[in-house]
Amino acid sequence: MAENIKLEIVTPDNLVVDEEAQIVMAPGTDGEFGVLKGHTPFLTSLKIGSVKYKDASGKERVVFVSGGFAEALPNKVTILAESAERRRDIDQDRAKQAMERAEKRLSTENDDSIDYIRAKAALVRAIHRLKVKGYIV
Ligand code: ATP
Repeated sequence: MAENIKLEIVTPDNLVVDEEAQIVMAPGTDGEFGVLKGHTPFLTSLKIGSVKYKDASGKERVVFVSGGFAEALPNKVTILAESAERRRDIDQDRAKQAMERAEKRLSTENDDSIDYIRAKAALVRAIHRLKVKGYIV
């Protein structure tokens, strides 16, 4: 069986994941990619989405990431994100409220007080958190 690779997911205030993984899948801006031990080194930016990995026991884990960067080395993947949460740490009600708030802002037309780009990004974060949580598919 292939050897494990080390996975770290880091935010400005938290080390969210620090463990061995059999495989890591991440949402690169150029498409989803997978990393196994021994991968050629590379660096990429990430989209808002989920990092999926199989832990050392083979269990599938999912972590929300709000974009950021990934560095893959032959024996380690490091993900730097502005925010990241494991499935169990996502507050579903908070994400639903964020989604509703963003939808309301986006449905208000031609209002100079609304930052539509920011509202769109907030909506995409909320949707992905709710997907990781399993609330929406
Ligand atoms: P909100 O409007 O609810 O703050 P947001 O998408 O603007 O959502 P972020 O800027 O991505 O929030 O994150 C700010 C901090 O709050 C981060 O530490 C992030 O991990 C945490 N956070 C945001 N939403 C949730 C959530 N639904 N469950 C758990 N933690 C969350």
